[in-house]
Amino acid sequence: MPLETEKVYYSDPYLTELDAKVLAVYPDGLVLNRTVFYPEGGGQRGDSGLISGIPVTSTVCRGGETVHLTEGSSAFHPGDSVRLLVDWPKRYHLMKAHTAQHMIAGLAYTHFQLDTVAIHLGDDELTVEFVQPCDDSLLYELESLINEHICSAEKVTSRTVSHEEAVSMGLRRSVKVTGPVRLVSIDNTDLIACGGLHVSSAAEVGLVAYAGQEKIRGHVRTFWHYADNALRYNHANREIVMRAGALLSAPADNVVCALETVLEEVKALRAELRTVSENAAASFIECCPPVFDSPFELSAFQKCAGRKQFFALREKDGVIVWLLSGSQELFNEFRTHFSALRISGGGRAPLFQGRAQCSRTELMSVVSDMFEKEESNE
Ligand SMILES: [Zn+2]
Repeated sequence: MPLETEKVYYSDPYLTELDAKVLAVYPDGLVLNRTVFYPEGGGQRGDSGLISGIPVTSTVCRGGETVHLTEGSSAFHPGDSVRLLVDWPKRYHLMKAHTAQHMIAGLAYTHFQLDTVAIHLGDDELTVEFVQPCDDSLLYELESLINEHICSAEKVTSRTVSHEEAVSMGLRRSVKVTGPVRLVSIDNTDLIACGGLHVSSAAEVGLVAYAGQEKIRGHVRTFWHYADNALRYNHANREIVMRAGALLSAPADNVVCALETVLEEVKALRAELRTVSENAAASFIECCPPVFDSPFELSAFQKCAGRKQFFALREKDGVIVWLLSGSQELFNEFRTHFSALRISGGGRAPLFQGRAQCSRTELMSVVSDMFEKEESNE
């Protein structure tokens, strides 16, 4: 029979210290007669803290027992009296996260008919996955609604009912446990079966901020920040907008418009630069040797391909790129050196392009020989 531990964290989730007795000692942890350490489950991480000054890294449910994981278990014996101290900042943060997650999923369900299929509680953010597609404007509306409910300081309570009663209530998520069911209610926001720990007032969550979405497995995964992290997230975003505004010499509410104007200018300048480079490249190949180092980006020579036979290379950040203008036969001969000189690339006559991992001198020498041979054949 698994050893039973009284779950004091349910009767008082705010209790951080407790006296208990050791029931069993395992190589990696302890089982106690009662505990304030919540074991990992329901998307909530297990508690850490101290047992009589010895660090507990996490708490897990194993074989029906609550095991407090610690490397210092050999210091204890069954029957020892111990003092528990839970890592409260971590636990309180998770209680806020858990409550925030209920508020997001509950209000999404009652106000926008969004069904939640998965959640994840992270340190900095939490994710809620919805079945139905939803756009950002709807999720901002949901964010406002959640924060209104937080301001109303709705009470968070829990009670245990029979399995039949829980099933008959038509909860937004089906009951997954057998036997008595622990129900968690947030006044006008949510009612659900849940074994996690929550704050007692929605006001303790402080703030919830929507932070984007992505498509996943045909669902929508939405990202949220909560409590202090929501405030930090909002500060960071404001800082980005203000700095961008300063760089663009634009007021914060006109940053997007100013950025669009700059991007349009960049686009026009790039087009102009391309035309100038192409014209310069066209003049350049008229007077340069057939094998040369290019002073321009190689794309400038693409339009010249076929006008005459030439080979251009350009070395940038330690990588050699090349462009060959010539016949398929010439390229076929060039290709015989690919493996030895670690050259790659391809194309269709008269334009071939690629990269090389050999030295610039090796490449130049091979191509110059090839061109000389070609010339003497003509
Ligand atoms: Zn919960």
